[in-house]
Amino acid sequence: MANSIEQEIGRRRTFAIISHPDAGKTTLTEKFLLYGGAINTAGSVKGKANSKHAVSDWMEIEKERGISVTSSVLQFEYEGKCINILDTPGHEDFSEDTYRTLMAADCAVMVIDASKGVEPQTIKLFKVCVMRHIPIFTFINKMDREAKDTFDLLDDIEKVLGIETCPINWPIGCGKEFKGVYERASRNILRFEAVSTGGAKEAKETIISADDDNAADLIGEDFYDNLMEEIELLDGAAAELDMDKVHQGKLSPVFFGSALTNFGVEPFLEHFLKMTTSPLPRKSDHGEIDPMTEKDFSAFVFKIQANMNKAHRDRIAFMRICSGEFEAGMSVYHVQGGKDVRLSQPQQMMADERKIVDKAYAGDIIGVFDPGVYSIGDTLTTAKDKFEFEGIPTFAPEHFARVSLVDSMKRKQFVKGVTQIAQEGAIQMFQEYKGGMEEIIVGVVGVLQFDVLKFRLENEYNVQIRLENLPYEHIRWIENKDEVNVDTINGTSDMKKVVDMKGNPLLLFINEWSIGMTLDRNDGLVLTEFGRN
Ligand code: GDP
Repeated sequence: MANSIEQEIGRRRTFAIISHPDAGKTTLTEKFLLYGGAINTAGSVKGKANSKHAVSDWMEIEKERGISVTSSVLQFEYEGKCINILDTPGHEDFSEDTYRTLMAADCAVMVIDASKGVEPQTIKLFKVCVMRHIPIFTFINKMDREAKDTFDLLDDIEKVLGIETCPINWPIGCGKEFKGVYERASRNILRFEAVSTGGAKEAKETIISADDDNAADLIGEDFYDNLMEEIELLDGAAAELDMDKVHQGKLSPVFFGSALTNFGVEPFLEHFLKMTTSPLPRKSDHGEIDPMTEKDFSAFVFKIQANMNKAHRDRIAFMRICSGEFEAGMSVYHVQGGKDVRLSQPQQMMADERKIVDKAYAGDIIGVFDPGVYSIGDTLTTAKDKFEFEGIPTFAPEHFARVSLVDSMKRKQFVKGVTQIAQEGAIQMFQEYKGGMEEIIVGVVGVLQFDVLKFRLENEYNVQIRLENLPYEHIRWIENKDEVNVDTINGTSDMKKVVDMKGNPLLLFINEWSIGMTLDRNDGLVLTEFGRN
């Protein structure tokens, strides 16, 4: 019998996977798909230049550079659950899309390299998770290599990220001697053995109670004694597993394993699915929209991707479904646009291919054809009560450049192109305060976005540009812009006043010190790091 809509929603899990580049996010994702039976061979999801193109390699620029510029969504089934993984670009030059993707997830899996601990990119992404109070599950990967001391790794997470940790399992050995993990709740030892080289197949697992007389033999006397000592220490020191804290994003359950050899991947999945919830309610201007009670379809747009198919010059708007059921071709009300739209060519990423979907449910992510009407944060719904979901914050760019035209005759195309690209959220565009379109400044979160802008202007609008980097690193929106006179704000000499596309005044600064000075000099001025769409 077919599942009811409630059952379909109830069995969904939607999470983002985050890590510093090379920690093993792609490998772990691939193993999830492998266990879920969505792919048969490891290597199908690889995104590196020297391997097959990753499923997310949509744009030319991605192919050229062998990196994943955009985020992709993968869906797979595991033990009756339907799981959506939102991948985040793993390159150091990540973009605002990475942040926005986190807005569409209900929780995050953070992959950490056991030999490195917490790395800079993890911190940035983590801050966004904390801002949203979403649960964070930690997978400490590469235990088959020399790893940092386990206690030090946990300490690192607690200190650097400011979140409590609770190991759900504990590694036994590391490097070539990585034997398996000890499960704290059941006191079981899971002894892993590789069953084939290359990690394509699942790992063999022997389970024995730590209290069994044969346990020491199975992993070796020394390892056993060491494990018992560590567990005693741990039980005395670690935080209790408080699921309320987990759901508030204050405590991260921690798991150990090796994605490459499959060790610990399945135990992680099992625990993860038990500890996570079905799609969570979302805030709107008419209160919370709970997928368990709201029957009508609703969704919000969190990403717009242009030119996935160069031949068609199409744009795809990615939306997270927040309630109800989606059916291909359905008409829904686009709240910001003020009219009904038909959601056509709905697509979903299934393992290694894009496919057209007929039905999708709360928790799912779909991409629909965008004739140029959607903006990031827009709400779509069939509910009579036309609510709007809370907008997606605009993340403060950290790099700025002045844009100039190579051929000044192309000014019209240029303005059109840069405005459109900014509307899609691929870059942020600013103008000189009271300066009009004469001077255009673009701001980005990751410098790769500059390349995307250049590439797209050339390819889609036939306009060549020059980018002159500007020294600013901080931007502040003026929270009380109606109360202060922006004309008379007296900042440091290196401060620059600009306006965004909606006409909001902003201030650019080279360093934090200048921000402090400007606040000191202008009584009553309130600045903020996040804008709202
Ligand atoms: P990403 O950048 O986070 O997606 O990382 P990848 O999954 O592409 O992995 C980066 C490199 O680390 C690749 O060469 C992987 O084969 C390797 N790798 C991933 N997981 C493991 C692991 O558990 N053990 C070891 N030894 N290598 C791993």
